[in-house]
Amino acid sequence: MNDSILQLHNISYSYHSLTGEIPALSDISFHVKQGEFLAIVGPSGCGKSTLLSIIARLLTPEGGTIAFQSPDGSLEYPKTGYMLQHDHLLEWRTILRNVTLGLEIAHRDTQENIAYAEKLLNDYDLYKFKDKHPGELSGGMRQRAALIRTLVMNPEILLLDEPFSALDYQTRLSVSGDIGNIIRTTGKTAILITHDLSEAISLADRIIILTGRPASVRRELPIHLTKTDNSPLAARSAPEFHHYFNLLWKELSHEN
Ligand code: ADP
Repeated sequence: MNDSILQLHNISYSYHSLTGEIPALSDISFHVKQGEFLAIVGPSGCGKSTLLSIIARLLTPEGGTIAFQSPDGSLEYPKTGYMLQHDHLLEWRTILRNVTLGLEIAHRDTQENIAYAEKLLNDYDLYKFKDKHPGELSGGMRQRAALIRTLVMNPEILLLDEPFSALDYQTRLSVSGDIGNIIRTTGKTAILITHDLSEAISLADRIIILTGRPASVRRELPIHLTKTDNSPLAARSAPEFHHYFNLLWKELSHEN
């Protein structure tokens, strides 16, 4: 597929320990399109984080291959950026110095890149907090700062591993909407792992449903919502929403 940034073919992976082998992924194949927002759902412990680690090249698959096309036309694997459940902001650094930490570590803290970090803080309503410390920000603002820290490194694919699950329900709704909009306006490709089916439906262009461990692809579900705007509420009020929810629920009930 020409507009694919990644194509996974028959990926398998097992963990090996002294007590034996734990097969985590079995024969996983799917593609990810450039600029697409993909969600991955599946039973707890089925292998979702393992799959994300393989896409990030933190783990090497035991079987199968990943074909890729870098958006900048280079022959290099697309740059990935990770966003996790906890923001891991450093309490003793200001928001600006947290956001530029990755640049500093990679020796890319040039004037131009710092100006880009400041622009992102400004675009996403955090500029006036740039000299504050993380403890002075709300959970939602901290998560936005964590996203900016990832975006500043200019990744081509954002890997989001349950990034909203530490937030209370109301904050989670608005932050997931904000972050979904930021990702869309930046045109980044995103892969989100979530156990929240409503979140998957309201954010994703397509959902990959995994089976229980060892995970394989149970079904792919393209999402088309008729929405009045890009808010989480508009997605949840779309006429198609309940159909998708019931479908996902049924698919996952087979796995429990
Ligand atoms: P999920 O993200 O779907 O909850 P994971 O990818 O974290 O699942 O884990 C899949 C399976 O692999 C789980 O049964 C987990 O216990 C096991 N697992 C994960 N990491 C390790 C590891 N480092 N060593 C051994 N087993 C692991």
